[in-house]
Amino acid sequence: MARDALHGGDNEHPVPDVAGDQARLEAEILAKLGTGGQWWSHPLGIAHVRPASASALVQLDSHTTFSSGTRYPRSAHALDRLLPSAEPGVQVTGVIGLRVADIEGADLHLTLSGSACRVVLRGTPGTRWDVLLDERWHRYEEAGCPPLWRSPSLTDYESRDIHGFAETWKAERDLDWLGSALLRRIALFHTAGSAYSTRSWITGDEWIFELDTVLEVPLGHDHFLTRLTDSVWGLALRITRHHCSCAEPRDPHERFYLRQCTYHLTHPVLPLGGLQLRFRHGHPVYGSDIRTTLERLGSPSKWLDRVLPTTGSEARTVSHRRDPSVRAEAEAR
Ligand SMILES: [Zn+2]
Repeated sequence: MARDALHGGDNEHPVPDVAGDQARLEAEILAKLGTGGQWWSHPLGIAHVRPASASALVQLDSHTTFSSGTRYPRSAHALDRLLPSAEPGVQVTGVIGLRVADIEGADLHLTLSGSACRVVLRGTPGTRWDVLLDERWHRYEEAGCPPLWRSPSLTDYESRDIHGFAETWKAERDLDWLGSALLRRIALFHTAGSAYSTRSWITGDEWIFELDTVLEVPLGHDHFLTRLTDSVWGLALRITRHHCSCAEPRDPHERFYLRQCTYHLTHPVLPLGGLQLRFRHGHPVYGSDIRTTLERLGSPSKWLDRVLPTTGSEARTVSHRRDPSVRAEAEAR
């Protein structure tokens, strides 16, 4: 897309911005798929994104691994997070208004009720989206949680949820442009960052990303921030406040040391909402042998050599294992 834009001279931005429903759909997908807490071959389980002016193609990784060691298809995992169903009297889980527009081979075309917006989730070859969708439909029905994604219009459950949580709904809509722009640059977390673990969530009007880097690797947050805010390719964000603890002295023998540099970024014009980046530097927090887990999931070795170099890794992961309660919590998440 970028190459075509550069060579074609059509004046289109190499990473076009979108708005309205298209931005909401992309932001909701990043919010649901980007929580992290599990391992995939790429950060957040997304191998790459191909953005276009009115749609986006999201290539999913093949599998995730549960703490028990069981492998689970990323396509199924994505549906578990995205498909809307109602817990009557409580809330709607999944993306409100999400609808399946089409299935073409390994491509699942998603849209929003009453909209022409489009995101294509591409599974690995052989992904049977129809089977996965049917399984979930019956499972939700049997559990007494009406599945909603086949309804042509917005269901009463969904409308009530929007009105019942109006403030949350509005705060999240103010972040749609950000979520969409980040999804369209998802590769940054793989190519420009030093983190082996990426997690994100929304709190109030901030979209928070927690990026964990091992001590053996330079934190390098300036490099990431420069790429993220590049004047041509990046997001229209500026740093409004930050706390950098890189220069603080530390005891190299402190086993549980975790340093965090926090950056808050906002749009120069849009007044609401923003991005908070937490660059954390310390011994591995999540799991005891992440490199092996990631190797088994097919992570690119070039990336692994950069973010989890092997030198001394065995000693590191054994001797610096954190206390069991922290590990249990991390695995539960
Ligand atoms: Zn710093």
